[in-house]
Amino acid sequence: MAPAMLSKMLHRMSQSQGDEGYDANRQQREQEKQHLADWEAQKEPLEVDEITKDPQKKPVGHSSKYLRKEDFDLIKTLGTGTFARVWLAKIANRKERDNNKVFALKILRKTDVIRLKQVEHVRNERNTLAAVAGHPFITTMVASFQDNDTLYMLLEYCPGGEVFSYLRRARRFNEPTSQFYAAEIVLILEFLHEKEGVAYRDLKPENILIDAEGHLKLVDFGFAKKIEERETYTLCGTPEYLAPEVIRNTGHGTAVDWWAFGILIYEFLVGQPPFWDQNPMKIYEQIVEGKVRYPSAMSRDARDIIGGLCTVDVTKRLGNVKGGASTVKSHPWFKDINWDELYHRKMQGPIVPHLKSADDTRNFDEYDAEPVHRDAYTKEMQQKYESAFADF
Ligand code: AMP
Repeated sequence: MAPAMLSKMLHRMSQSQGDEGYDANRQQREQEKQHLADWEAQKEPLEVDEITKDPQKKPVGHSSKYLRKEDFDLIKTLGTGTFARVWLAKIANRKERDNNKVFALKILRKTDVIRLKQVEHVRNERNTLAAVAGHPFITTMVASFQDNDTLYMLLEYCPGGEVFSYLRRARRFNEPTSQFYAAEIVLILEFLHEKEGVAYRDLKPENILIDAEGHLKLVDFGFAKKIEERETYTLCGTPEYLAPEVIRNTGHGTAVDWWAFGILIYEFLVGQPPFWDQNPMKIYEQIVEGKVRYPSAMSRDARDIIGGLCTVDVTKRLGNVKGGASTVKSHPWFKDINWDELYHRKMQGPIVPHLKSADDTRNFDEYDAEPVHRDAYTKEMQQKYESAFADF
């Protein structure tokens, strides 16, 4: 056969193989979009032993090779972090019946992540969200994916907005409301610490959202870290919620979350955290001293649980003593909580957000448009960092 003809034939063959590959990918993409739409319609939480399975084998939390940015219509910015923007998003080009299927798409540019030295945090965040996907009180990451210069985390949309806003509006929560929210957080911390060996490290009202049914959803796993038996030394978190061992830099573990949990209960009941000053250094001094002052109206059980959690000596801190989270669950302040019913979302949330439709964004602020100018993801950056993003 003449070489010219052979080359033409080979070209045609490779083209048809390419087309097949392209079609197979398209089919996978369509299947994934269907899966997303089906999941959104149910949003079924998983049982604990299902959540702990390999994320690639769970219905949620996998890293997708097929999804792309073009598969989503970005509707509105819901929030911005230092290097991320979270969008209300719908699946693109779907039949009308999928119009009410909404997600929160968290978008991070690789250059920003690198510039702000957040590569490790972002990897931790994705991996933790994948490992915990399906928990009833943690925002489910349905899938993650990436393209040349951007990382994407597709999250369930929590239309109620931040607990922080409800707390500031109400000034303080009454005891049953505080108990309900606190109890859902106990289930989160129990799961993170005892099933995943993860310290969350940034517990505060700003990171807790409310879903359409009034249940809590913990967001922002940027500081979450697998600790297991080891201790870690990085200073992170918000001044008012930092544990004394973080300030002293003597090494810390999952006990920091129980301390912050005590601060959170106090802030729910009182409307402000127990240690406060305009000057962060003064806050730190108060924290390491660890003297909590309670308003006279606070119940005995509430004081007792806060005091137990905000104990400077980690070996004596409630939640960190032998028995772990179960010592918190059996505290008298939680005597009205049926833990099994709570996990299965059978208890009614105290605040159910008013929403007109699934894509209602009334509980979110308005944000400026995204800056047009973007730093390029250079070849050098790619060579140095692409392997770190490989399994995103
Ligand atoms: P983050 O960078 O994860 O802290 O997200 C920044 C902001 O985006 C948060 O403070 C929320 O206001 C908003 N946000 C994040 N995740 C969601 C979600 N799943 N649903 C609704 N809003 C979200």
